[in-house]
Amino acid sequence: PVDQQPFDPNKKTLVLLGTGWGSTTVLKNLDTENFNVVVVSPRNYFLFTPLLPSCTVGTIENRSIMEPVRQLMRHKKREVIFYEAECTGIDAETKELTLERRTNSDDLQTTNKRPPTAPEDVVKLNYDYLVVGVGGTVNTFGTPGVEQHACFLKEMRDARKIRRRLMDSIESASFDDISEEERDRLLHMVVVGGGPTGIEYAGELHDFLTDDLSQWYPDLAQRVRITLVEALPNVLPAFDKKLIDYTQSTFSENKISIMTGTMVKEVQDKSFTVQNPDGTRTEIPYGLLVWATGIKAQPVVNRIREQFSQVQTNGRGLLVDEYLRVKGAKDIWALGDCALSGYAPLAQVASQQGKWLARSLNAAAKKSDDAPDADIFSLIEKTSRPFKYSSQGSLAYIGSDKAIADLPLFNRNITSGGIATFWFWKSAYLNELFSLRNSSLVAADWVKRFFFGRDISRE
Ligand code: FAD
Ligand code: NAD
Repeated sequence: PVDQQPFDPNKKTLVLLGTGWGSTTVLKNLDTENFNVVVVSPRNYFLFTPLLPSCTVGTIENRSIMEPVRQLMRHKKREVIFYEAECTGIDAETKELTLERRTNSDDLQTTNKRPPTAPEDVVKLNYDYLVVGVGGTVNTFGTPGVEQHACFLKEMRDARKIRRRLMDSIESASFDDISEEERDRLLHMVVVGGGPTGIEYAGELHDFLTDDLSQWYPDLAQRVRITLVEALPNVLPAFDKKLIDYTQSTFSENKISIMTGTMVKEVQDKSFTVQNPDGTRTEIPYGLLVWATGIKAQPVVNRIREQFSQVQTNGRGLLVDEYLRVKGAKDIWALGDCALSGYAPLAQVASQQGKWLARSLNAAAKKSDDAPDADIFSLIEKTSRPFKYSSQGSLAYIGSDKAIADLPLFNRNITSGGIATFWFWKSAYLNELFSLRNSSLVAADWVKRFFFGRDISRE
């Protein structure tokens, strides 16, 4: 670690909410000489989400795609403070945030229904400038039973839960004394949502089944069924038609059933109910159900919106302008999945926005030395161009060593799918991982899996 400067009472305090793609990129690129920086997040690490589906079956070990935020903090010029807490309220008038401590590791559930926090765990924090990068939360569309019975795939704890539940189902199905009907139920793995998250998870699950479970549980593995349920007429609506067809035919070869035009209406303990394309309803037994139907706004985003209710009229997130300024607010920026900036909720959008915002803040802070009373919003307008996203294309893993890619090249979109694309996918992600440590660990995990297979232990 470098010798860090302490907090400077003459500098403004910049609070960063979140340690995801957006906020972590701001921190990485921010010149902390210009600000006193405080980071607030319920998670003390950055998570490389694109490889999260690989953790659900042990293709990659969990810690290989996590990077402690303190690793980043200790290399900054000025000390940075981190609070493991969730921001739950804001008073934009007095520039005061309400935080709730999240330092209890028993509290590991991804849920939108949290019990009230004890008063002693509520803390106040003042800011001069605020960057909101809190991402989104799982969207159940109010479907009954999802919170109680389904697994999500958003955070590392979700991947861990899926891995345990999967092995629970397999081991339960190994008992002789259960009926054949019950065995089939336990071995029915269901994925709800045909977006990239659901597709990648189904692909990883298929690989685990064919590469590993078939070796350890030869009889049971033959009976495992994987079903993907999608409400729209086809999966991957944001991808090119050719890639959709390629994915659907690969899934068909891999014996993954796709139920399109079918909406899950309720999830019970051991079965779920769908509405079929013809409007009728069917109840289907399952052993494991993974809910991957996208995201909605975090509760704190709604608290911020309430402060500027005249202009913040969209319930999906914070409306921002082309400088990522929260509309109606002063000294608040939002980026990534929580910001409605006209771009899709993607890691690459969040990280480009983070880079742009850090550079703009650095430039404005330098300018403010000559004009100490100037408003930072107008300084950024003078020193930076508006944010513009440059798409690097889309990549997704679909199982059996195949990936799909939709890449912008020479003003055209090039699509490709197959094994060569899978190697491109691997090298792109190795390159993009947060640190050399992460890239080395992921590469080692891939080699380990090649020689020894995936670990089937439940933990
Ligand atoms: P996040 O990365 O979600 O980070 C939000 C942060 O805010 C977290 O640290 C969270 O703990 C914290 N937080 C939450 N609430 C609060 C609060 N109240 N107070 C303070 N902090 C809070 N995108 C791609 O472009 N390519 C991919 O291949 C890809 N794969 C994905 C795979 C999966 C399984 C998932 C779930 C997503 C994937 N995405 C991918 C989407 C991508 O992860 C998101 O777009 C990206 O994470 C958004 O970044 P963010 O910084 O806005 O939010
Ligand atoms: P998504 O919003 O992309 O897809 C969710 C799907 O669930 C939709 O197709 C929707 O029709 C379906 N759905 C909703 N309710 C349903 C119901 N009751 N029954 C059946 N189907 C239902 O969500 P995601 O896949 O989690 O992705 C979220 C974001 O993260 C997207 O922007 C995505 O592009 C991004 N992401 C990208 C990658 C990648 O590029 N490889 C991987 C994962 C996620």
